[in-house]
Amino acid sequence: MVSAAAVAASVLDPELPVLTLADLGVLREVREQGERVVVTITPTYSGCPALDEMRADLTRALTAAGYTDVEVRTALAPAWTTDWISEEGLRKLAEHGIAPPARIGPRAAGPVPLTLEPPAARVACPRCGSANTRELSRFGSTACKALRSCADCKEPFEHIKEI
Ligand SMILES: [Zn+2]
Repeated sequence: MVSAAAVAASVLDPELPVLTLADLGVLREVREQGERVVVTITPTYSGCPALDEMRADLTRALTAAGYTDVEVRTALAPAWTTDWISEEGLRKLAEHGIAPPARIGPRAAGPVPLTLEPPAARVACPRCGSANTRELSRFGSTACKALRSCADCKEPFEHIKEI
């Protein structure tokens, strides 16, 4: 029997199917007791529509692997940030033509000040590497992505926004 942790780690993210839940950094804990498994995940942002899908996918994968009693819990604190995406995850995004988020580093605890203007991020084109890119739309195919275009290779691409 494959370990519950290995099964859970290999489930793909519903919104970014090039990444596993482990790459995305949303898997907090996988506890295994015989055929009972308790998985704790932190959604990528509160109200994330993919959460129900993640829960269903985890339950399906673990059930298929022989775990008959699966519980998926969510932990909202500490809040997930794009810094939780693994190095492997960033590499996979770039390989699939999606500009990965920049590392932001530790944030101050407490409420995050709301800024109306996004920071002027320098996002390199995942195809040609040019930094000469601009944002076309703050929201791409999903809320976590922005749509950008490259002035050099003229190709549009998606960028995972830093949060
Ligand atoms: Zn380009």
